Amino acid sequence: MSYIDSPPPRSRLLRLYFLSLLFFTLTASEDPLAILSRFQQYLRINTAHPNPNYYEAADFILSHAKSLSLESQTLEFVKGKPLILLKWPGKHTYLPSILLNSHTDVVPAEHHKWTHPPFDAHLDHNGLIYARGSQDMKCVGLQYLEAIRKLKSDGFEPARTVYLSFVPDEEIGGHDGAEKLADSETFKKMNVGIVLDEGLASPDENYRVFYGERCPWWLVIKATGAPGHGAKLYDNTAMENLLKSIESVRRFRAAQFDLVKAGLKAEGEVISVNMVFLKAGTPSPTGFVMNLQPSEAEAGFDIRVPPTVDQASLERRIAEEWAPASRNMTFEFKQKVSVYDKFGKPSLTVTDSSNPWWALLEGAVKKANRKLGKPEIFPASTDARYFREQGLPAIGFSPMANTPILLHDHNEFLNKDEYLEGIDAYKSIIKTYASFVEHTRDGASREEL
Ligand SMILES: [Zn+2]
Repeated sequence: MSYIDSPPPRSRLLRLYFLSLLFFTLTASEDPLAILSRFQQYLRINTAHPNPNYYEAADFILSHAKSLSLESQTLEFVKGKPLILLKWPGKHTYLPSILLNSHTDVVPAEHHKWTHPPFDAHLDHNGLIYARGSQDMKCVGLQYLEAIRKLKSDGFEPARTVYLSFVPDEEIGGHDGAEKLADSETFKKMNVGIVLDEGLASPDENYRVFYGERCPWWLVIKATGAPGHGAKLYDNTAMENLLKSIESVRRFRAAQFDLVKAGLKAEGEVISVNMVFLKAGTPSPTGFVMNLQPSEAEAGFDIRVPPTVDQASLERRIAEEWAPASRNMTFEFKQKVSVYDKFGKPSLTVTDSSNPWWALLEGAVKKANRKLGKPEIFPASTDARYFREQGLPAIGFSPMANTPILLHDHNEFLNKDEYLEGIDAYKSIIKTYASFVEHTRDGASREEL
């Protein structure tokens, strides 16, 4: 858009006409039916793995960005996986910006197990919208945009720049999406001060909010021993050695689980360990050789480690109790995400008065007549970890109260009113964040780097 300092009367009239047209267009597009229909359109784009239709989703987002006059660019760190970056420029470009992140991909759905097809976005008579991605997390991506639409039609102008990233591949690890973005030169230039990313639905009336997440450690332990006749009792067989370890892992698992069952710790605060495979035996044409004790046996575990625990002590436990060399055991990690960020600090976002973004979020949600629950550690992984890894505060938040947790489940749904209220929550949050003009400590320290 260009500026005309003193337009002649006729063009002033024209401008007035276009302004009022814009106003009415914006108002019409704020009609709840129009808002819901846009949500349904997004949900109908099949972005399920293994063949997500990323370009259709990208076109959809870009057309929204255009209707909102947001700046946009398509980044393709990996071919075929577009990442859409939108920008709402703030007045004070020197202030760290706000990043609103969401992923465009969804997990696959077993169509025959759904009441309504997962990519129809059917709205039933109870106001429930059934679709894969209705909770995880197309709702959030579009709520950001709808909130901005409302703020724009109110005439709000942000002091800080607001970025929106629509990233691919979160559901398969985010390596070609958010991870590449967080490591990019583009990201450095964005001078991000705070990131909002996904949370989880909350069955009660409080919104859930996450300040960290457990780090996946995928551990494989292997036992070796002398093979022998199936009838012979002798020490140090691979099977015996592996079983001793499995018993030890099981005791640890039970103790951690007891803390959750007793209500002493939340799910995200304990180390979870689950055995995911067992590999042993000597194959035969009819199954396994039955009179031979094998010389090798393996087991795999999915371990999730909260950033609040002492990483070194768990490493010691693995080396000394779960896979001790004294029992001819070895171990390797298929994946091991550190609980520390790149500055060596636990990957956690502070949720007290030392983090202004936290207090602002609490206040903004309250202003929208909603409440936040106690901050939690996300039990699984999200893209937020790549931003926390950079030392940035990142808060996981999906405004879905009074909603059963159905992400990755059959019949994933979201109530339309909850969706609409979520937009108001984001409107309040974005307005609060984008109006905050104090130079945050985070921003200052990063600029010094
Ligand atoms: Zn998600």
